[in-house]
Amino acid sequence: MRLLLLLLITTFSYSNFQAQTQPWQGKFEPIDNMIAPPSTYRTASGAPGKAYWQQRADYKIKAILNENNNTLTGEETITYFNNSPDDLSYVWMQLEQNVNKKGNEDFGAINNSIKDSITTRQMQFLTRAINFPAGYSIKYVKDATGNNLRTMVNNTMMKVKLNTILKSGESTTLAISWSYPITDRSMYLLSREGYEYFPEDDNTVYLIAHWFPRMAVYNDTEGWQNQQFQKLGEFALEFGNYEVEITVPEDHIIASTGELQNSESVLTKTQRKRFDDAKKSFDKPVMIITKEEALANEKQKSTKQKTWKFNATNVRDFSFASSRKFMWDAQAVKLPTNTVMAMSFYPKEGLPVWQGESTKAITQALEVYSEATFDYPYPVAISVNTSNIGMEFPMISFNGGRPDKDGEISDRAKQGMIGTIIHEVGHNWFPMIVSSDERKWMWMDEGLNTFLHQRTVAERYPDFNHTTPKSIVPFMSGDKNILRPVMTTSDNELLQQFGANFYQKPTVGLQMLRNSIIGKELFDEAFKEYANRWKYKHPNPSDLFRTLEDATATDLDWFYRGWFFTTDNVDMELSNVKWFKVFEENTNIEDQNKSSQVKIKANSNSTEAESKDFSNGPEVITMTSTPDAAYGQFLSRLDEPEVRKQLSNKNIYEITIKNKGGLVMPVTIEWVFTDGSTEIDTLPVEIWRRNEYEIQHTFIKEKEVSKVNLDPNFEFADTNMDNNTFPKEETKSEFDTFKDNKKEH
Ligand SMILES: [Zn+2]
Repeated sequence: MRLLLLLLITTFSYSNFQAQTQPWQGKFEPIDNMIAPPSTYRTASGAPGKAYWQQRADYKIKAILNENNNTLTGEETITYFNNSPDDLSYVWMQLEQNVNKKGNEDFGAINNSIKDSITTRQMQFLTRAINFPAGYSIKYVKDATGNNLRTMVNNTMMKVKLNTILKSGESTTLAISWSYPITDRSMYLLSREGYEYFPEDDNTVYLIAHWFPRMAVYNDTEGWQNQQFQKLGEFALEFGNYEVEITVPEDHIIASTGELQNSESVLTKTQRKRFDDAKKSFDKPVMIITKEEALANEKQKSTKQKTWKFNATNVRDFSFASSRKFMWDAQAVKLPTNTVMAMSFYPKEGLPVWQGESTKAITQALEVYSEATFDYPYPVAISVNTSNIGMEFPMISFNGGRPDKDGEISDRAKQGMIGTIIHEVGHNWFPMIVSSDERKWMWMDEGLNTFLHQRTVAERYPDFNHTTPKSIVPFMSGDKNILRPVMTTSDNELLQQFGANFYQKPTVGLQMLRNSIIGKELFDEAFKEYANRWKYKHPNPSDLFRTLEDATATDLDWFYRGWFFTTDNVDMELSNVKWFKVFEENTNIEDQNKSSQVKIKANSNSTEAESKDFSNGPEVITMTSTPDAAYGQFLSRLDEPEVRKQLSNKNIYEITIKNKGGLVMPVTIEWVFTDGSTEIDTLPVEIWRRNEYEIQHTFIKEKEVSKVNLDPNFEFADTNMDNNTFPKEETKSEFDTFKDNKKEH
């Protein structure tokens, strides 16, 4: 074995050797040491292991919304199941409302600098000149027998010391009484919840979210998830069942996670009849509360109360919206294994566009996402109109996008609104069901969700703009001192670029894997595999990385390493194209020792010099006959004249490509022939294994080439297309570019 190996090495190694211009960076080395090692909980193939476990928390909550002083008061009972192998002496709970307390918000993360001129609102954000009341008042925390439990609050988290050890496999019950002032959404930066006041009719829309004290995640990779809520990094939550009773003014309508349990006592007979009609309406929404009815409600201002009851099964969170301003439409969506009620709630300020587009957008998302992953499993999917944000919770989302006062909406704003609804409904899959830790890895839910959201837009709204690899170029060409890798913890990203880094960049990465690296069929099945493996579970980045490799037999470590762990970009330079031609003339095969050359039109001796274009014609190749020694111990011989005959009169092109941006990628080459026709060749990414900075490759073409383009279809987010062609196109002067731009607009 050893001898043979040596022979191989001496024969082949030098011909493959090219000096690298920069040190080897191991771009194709395994990423095993960069991700969590597999365990009995999480397998090396990326699936939940035999010993996988997760905690469970069931909630029974009774809450009262007081419209007079904008407070929410509640009592809850949590049944917490310790499925971990560990015994617990304390548990951690999340008190996310505390983030709004002065001093707790953002931990100074907003850009806290004062400029010469600053808006008063911005100044309020910076200084909290008016200190609005915020945060929880906890009246008690008790155990099952009614004994008070000792608690300690650390910003947005509360430690509850248990009176008896919670053993592995056992459950415990906690009773908590609490209240908090609901905050005015317009007065806070990045507020996902709170109230929105409408001065014109003196009414309020309440968006109630992260509103009740709830269990922090305890898992096999973190122990207790103890990253504080600082607003950018969202939520890490356990699954469970909910029974929730919400008491609101009698004339309010509630849109909520879960299924309404007492429609007889909260809806009118007419509303119930319309809702039943909606259940049978698969092609268009049915109005359950019309515009006229909503306008009449706005004027009521009832002082009486009404209690709505909702149950939700196997959800990781619970949220609701309440107002007397809501119109309500609904339609049924039939999926292979579930029929879902798609419903929209909106004040008159959303008209007319909301009535026409919201529920329609929900149905598009339900259909495309279900097909790409698994059927939407819940009974309802709700879109509530709000100002300025899009925010998701199980079965319900709060979505921005409103027309102006005359009911007009620009095409761009309409696309934004529909895109937001698709996106937030889509979050039901990532992270509401495939429940990754948002506080730690924003890209996992936002990236995967945006990927499917953009696919939904591309498939169902083909006239709309959608993300493509080109979209990420400005971000990826940005200042490396500011850029962070995708694998950055949510709250460590900058406000101005988390959208590009955590939403767009992973989306483009997945698009490239699907369209250009793995292929649609294999990729789609692997993506579906990941979603199904981890539904109702807590996947980590390594579980996604491993599943996509495991289900496609594709080594993607090079891709993960570059795209997720670095800030490198793609910039391939087509440095040179050399043109050769072999002419078979007067070759004396019998006399190989004497003359072993195939003559070529000799117009250039220097094959080393870089050519500028093809104007000098083809260069000379000297093809010598192979000496016997080169065959080593083999006694058979190649039909060398046949090889030369095959090459005779063909055009041979040797291309040189340099990797300027750092990221290795497959290479797509477009040949434009002198007759105007084109042809595409692709080289797999592995071409960069031996030299990460420069590659050469030889192609044989029947026709003569007039031009060569790299990445002609813009598949790989190449940040500089100016160096992708040969011959180089003349760079336009700035003045010419300016003139051209003027013409286009
Ligand atoms: Zn999102």
